[in-house]
Amino acid sequence: PIYLDYNATTPVDQHVLKEMLPWFTERFGNAASRTHLYGWEAADAVADARQQVAKLIGATEKEIIFTSGATESNNLALKGAYEAAGAERRHIITVVTEHKAVLDACQHLEALGAEITYLTAAPDGLINLRQIEQALRPDTLLVSVMYANNEIGVIQPIADIGALCRANGVFFHTDATQAAGKITVGVEYDCVDLLSLSAHKLYGPKGVGALFVRKGTNLTAQLDGGRHERGLRSGTLNVPGIVGFGKACRLAAATMPTERERLKTLRDQLEKEILETVADVRINGNQEKRLPQTTNLSFEGVDGEALLMAFNRIAVSNGSACTSALVEPSYVLKALGVPDDLAHASVRFSLGRFTTEEEIAETIQHVQEVVARLRA
Ligand code: PLP
Repeated sequence: PIYLDYNATTPVDQHVLKEMLPWFTERFGNAASRTHLYGWEAADAVADARQQVAKLIGATEKEIIFTSGATESNNLALKGAYEAAGAERRHIITVVTEHKAVLDACQHLEALGAEITYLTAAPDGLINLRQIEQALRPDTLLVSVMYANNEIGVIQPIADIGALCRANGVFFHTDATQAAGKITVGVEYDCVDLLSLSAHKLYGPKGVGALFVRKGTNLTAQLDGGRHERGLRSGTLNVPGIVGFGKACRLAAATMPTERERLKTLRDQLEKEILETVADVRINGNQEKRLPQTTNLSFEGVDGEALLMAFNRIAVSNGSACTSALVEPSYVLKALGVPDDLAHASVRFSLGRFTTEEEIAETIQHVQEVVARLRA
């Protein structure tokens, strides 16, 4: 089937793989080995990758902590900041449409005594500055708002939120897993203190990520041991993965301007033709402030499960979580006020580097046929 689930994960780019391979075999050294060439060359490779990751988000190398992915980065950001803060800073502000790695980390902290404000997004998925302003308290430690949503692609007003947080002396964390590599992300412009990244969303390998930690942002490590990564994340570095992540960031930065336009054209074409030729389809989320390669469509009057089963020529997702036998509609769409049956009949199409015009044409045709058949 045609792969249109790039927001779930991306294939490793051939150029990335090629760069990674030697670091599994002949150059297998431990980047923490200080006594021989094997260690030195691994440390150099990690330093180079760190520079590439930092560059993609406008950070300095010293501010990048390598992790196992965005789940770990989000956990380290929230739990680490909470643990390092004093008893007078126990309040965190976040949004109901965040990724589970943020929401569940918040829930974990709630059990430890944190107070969490969960803001609701508007029906178009956006939150506004006033909501955050009103939620701020003297004991607020941190605000966590994702850069771009994985299900609907909506891009939050990150620079405005960052400026507000800075003016109020509150840390600002953003999960930029879906934004980095697709749109311009800059930790200075956006006034971000903590930012989560994952390599496998930008054509790097799975199981590698990073947390940007601005100088002066106090965190307590969540993994203790050999004091790697400035003591914030112990554990032998995944050198091949980190090398791949660095290369992936370099490629993403180089291709972003053209890819952004190419994918937006294809996404818009997909959306426009489906909306014009298939009745009762609606787009979920704000249409302007959105990632260029994501669209989330609801098909009225179609059974959601039957719809996804019938899409056998495309690989798409409905963002729903399967809990044993129960298929729950997406909590993101529900939070936007989409009714359950419509949320079930919603499909996320996410395009990427290897999506072609022919694939989009075939997808449009397939969607037309499937929906017509199910509605008949
Ligand atoms: N945050 C967002 C917004 C995501 O889309 C994902 C991907 O599933 C994650 C976090 C988790 O990233 P990882 O798979 O690297 O743990």
